[in-house]
Amino acid sequence: MSVSPRPGGRVPGQGVTMHPVEGGRWLVTVSGTRGGEPSRSAGDFETFARRLRHPLVADLIAGAEPLTDVLLSRSTINRRRYFERLDRWPGGFVVIGDAVAAYNPIYGHGMSVAALNAAALRDTLAGQVLGDPRLARRAQRAVARTADAAWSMAVGEDIHYPGAIGERPPVPARLLRGYVQRMMLTGTVDPAVTRPLLDVMTLSKPMAGLFAPGVVLRVLRGPLGRPPTEPPITAAERAVAGLTPR
Ligand SMILES: Cc1cc2nc3c(=O)[nH]c(=O)nc-3n(C[C@H](O)[C@H](O)[C@H](O)COP(=O)(O)OP(=O)(O)OC[C@H]3O[C@@H](n4cnc5c(N)ncnc54)[C@H](O)[C@@H]3O)c2cc1C
Repeated sequence: MSVSPRPGGRVPGQGVTMHPVEGGRWLVTVSGTRGGEPSRSAGDFETFARRLRHPLVADLIAGAEPLTDVLLSRSTINRRRYFERLDRWPGGFVVIGDAVAAYNPIYGHGMSVAALNAAALRDTLAGQVLGDPRLARRAQRAVARTADAAWSMAVGEDIHYPGAIGERPPVPARLLRGYVQRMMLTGTVDPAVTRPLLDVMTLSKPMAGLFAPGVVLRVLRGPLGRPPTEPPITAAERAVAGLTPR
């Protein structure tokens, strides 16, 4: 469950996510871009969540018991090293994980990309003679390709928050972002659009899934009906969560 920031405005982006983890516990993360960062103070945690676009998560955590102190991270930079473009590369040496590309953790992509990197390395090495001096460079290129989708999403989004430092995205990236934003809006009322969007955003499927013919038509048509103004949570679900009816 999340209350997402709205990029593109003049104010910092602030949000909260809430995920179930092992042992019946929940991981709750508040976040803010430059100028709107949350503090380390446990006392400010719920207040921060309550000031967002919707108070649902604040309501849910209001009666919850914190099991740890607030843990703070300021490592939100997107940083990529293009090892695959170097003129010379040592044989038998391949870089994967955050050392290739590290992402703003708000997107939750780092470990998934590390796994995709490892799969690319495995696939490149399969059936090859390990002594081949060109193999490491081939593997490094394959690893780089698996970082592209998460990288485009992170930098393409973060640059729109006030104070972000980096290159402005080129025109194709801006067009793609406009398309994805329309897809998000359409997806609020059309599950046939939500599914491929989530598949791509969770790195489960390639970006091409955004442009399947049936999907493009639905996105271009836009949402049929009014997008909801409230989270799609039923009265029964509110009761289970101990929330008062709205
Ligand atoms: C706050 C936060 C939340 C995150 N949340 C998510 C999430 O929800 N989902 C997700 O997929 N990803 C998330 N990530 C990203 C994820 O943690 C990283 O993508 C992942 O840990 C990268 O793995 P790695 O092995 O490449 O690097 P690391 O996990 O950083 O491992 C590198 C290791 O190398 C060691 N090291 C460094 N230098 C040396 C040296 N000179 N000699 C010996 N050892 C050295 C380090 O101590 C470290 O143990 C988050 C990151 C942060 C900061």
